[in-house]
Amino acid sequence: MLDLPKQAPAAAVAVLVPEVPKLAPPPKLNVRSYPVRDTLQRSLPMPILEALDRALLGRLDVYAHVVDSSVVHAFAEDDRLSALVIDTPRTRLTAFLLSDAKGQTRWFDADGKRADTGAFLGRPLELSRITSPYGTRLHPITGDVRSHRGVDYGAATGTPIYAVADGTVATKATDAASGNYLKLGHAGRQSLYLHLDAFGPGIEQNAAVKQGQVIGFVGTTGMSTGPHLHFEMRMGPVSLDPLQTLPVPLEVLTSAERSVFLPRVQRIMQAAPPISRP
Ligand SMILES: [Zn+2]
Repeated sequence: MLDLPKQAPAAAVAVLVPEVPKLAPPPKLNVRSYPVRDTLQRSLPMPILEALDRALLGRLDVYAHVVDSSVVHAFAEDDRLSALVIDTPRTRLTAFLLSDAKGQTRWFDADGKRADTGAFLGRPLELSRITSPYGTRLHPITGDVRSHRGVDYGAATGTPIYAVADGTVATKATDAASGNYLKLGHAGRQSLYLHLDAFGPGIEQNAAVKQGQVIGFVGTTGMSTGPHLHFEMRMGPVSLDPLQTLPVPLEVLTSAERSVFLPRVQRIMQAAPPISRP
């Protein structure tokens, strides 16, 4: 039998002719500005609110930061929402939508850092309002002035609660004050979820949890005046303000992606109205 030589692998053909850059017209850019008065729900159309909520989830809780007297500038490229510039009373936030060939979408800030997800999510449940922030307050049941070591989110009984980061179930328990509660451990930090109506499927002591996994449902068990989630972040014995916890971006654009992304950011930012503060 003839020993036929194996076919050499097809060599990559180098393109020697420099490609003439195709000068596609830039997309048609539109901006609409929405002043925030009273609540986000009353100030923004639902698609913008949902995009805003998702776009910054890896950074912060929009309900805590995009408050009265903020302005949300929504940009559309070729009539599709593609960027958000938010002037809050304290800072200017940005989020730019990137879609890949598979139709997957991701949001990045103007520096090319991923904004819609991070090591910690900005909030453990969807579209909810903060009913009591972190800090000193009058306790609604005892009437004492005491420090509130977490944030309360008002939401209907049964609303799913998500793990804010990958971790393990450090405590799954029930007591008179906290009702059904969970403490998750995340490499040096802990997140706590109190007054749950029920625990999520598969939530057991020492179980591993993934960021975004449903770990329980909002309820009013323990010392509680109505359905809400009391959420805490701790670093060992030190309690942290969950709304001020520094974000840890997980993904940064590659330099090749940035070379396309940054001119687009520049074009949009040039169209953004100047920061106006009352
Ligand atoms: Zn609370």
